[in-house]
Amino acid sequence: MVRVLVGVKRVIDYAVKIRVKPDKTGVITEGVKHSLNPFDEIAVEEAVKLKEKSVAKEIIAVSVGPTQSQEVIRTALAMGADRGIHVEVPAKEAELLQPIHVSKILAKLAQDEKVDLIIVGKQAIDDDANQTAQMTAAYLDWPQGTFCSKIEKVGDGYKIEREIDGGLESLNLKAPAVLSADLRLNTPRYATLPNIMKAKKKPIKKVTPSDLGVDTAPRIEIVSVEEPPVRQAGSVVPDVDTLISKLKEGGHVK
Ligand code: AMP
Repeated sequence: MVRVLVGVKRVIDYAVKIRVKPDKTGVITEGVKHSLNPFDEIAVEEAVKLKEKSVAKEIIAVSVGPTQSQEVIRTALAMGADRGIHVEVPAKEAELLQPIHVSKILAKLAQDEKVDLIIVGKQAIDDDANQTAQMTAAYLDWPQGTFCSKIEKVGDGYKIEREIDGGLESLNLKAPAVLSADLRLNTPRYATLPNIMKAKKKPIKKVTPSDLGVDTAPRIEIVSVEEPPVRQAGSVVPDVDTLISKLKEGGHVK
């Protein structure tokens, strides 16, 4: 049976309207609702399903981030993960944390914890990087299956389906492997109250990147963050003829 490591990132909730800081150095995070990254909920759900099918014996939820990242670890524990690892990074530094840092951390923990499978989300909805699975696989020299919409344990490896432009690709991967969860992989369960209570007793180990020998010094500098341009108001035309003549005027139709 396999030991699974799942990446769980704390991000601004998908329903929150993002506001840019007046000095354009980033987005406003204070007083804003945060949640477990939606693709990571799917990753946790898949790991729990593998445990229910007796493929996985243990699920470790890892979050790299500030103190509050423990909240998303608790969510993963309430969904069925067995234990958590919080890699604590001060809030200011966490804003500049990049997939390269997280990948090094996940790769190191995978070796230390002797895991056989890593599942992460296909992307974190805050920075939309979509790099962590790929870089983690590269650091470990493990095969990668990204954008999974189906994961099956077959023999001593995995058969996955991944969503690609215009279709599906099926791959067989040797274990150990790194997989990333796409939207249609599953529908994550809600944590029930008894499971939320049980999750409070599950252990969360705290470590720092330097304990793991990972340097998190930023390699990029944020020059400016800006709001998207405000959409121009549309106009209402009384009938199709006016619409066509307006389109002709604008050179959109001949
Ligand atoms: P990204 O490459 O940043 O788009 O993130 C892809 C996936 O990597 C996320 O869905 C998470 O599963 C994982 N990940 C990224 N950053 C973190 C983090 N700070 N802590 C834990 N997992 C993370």
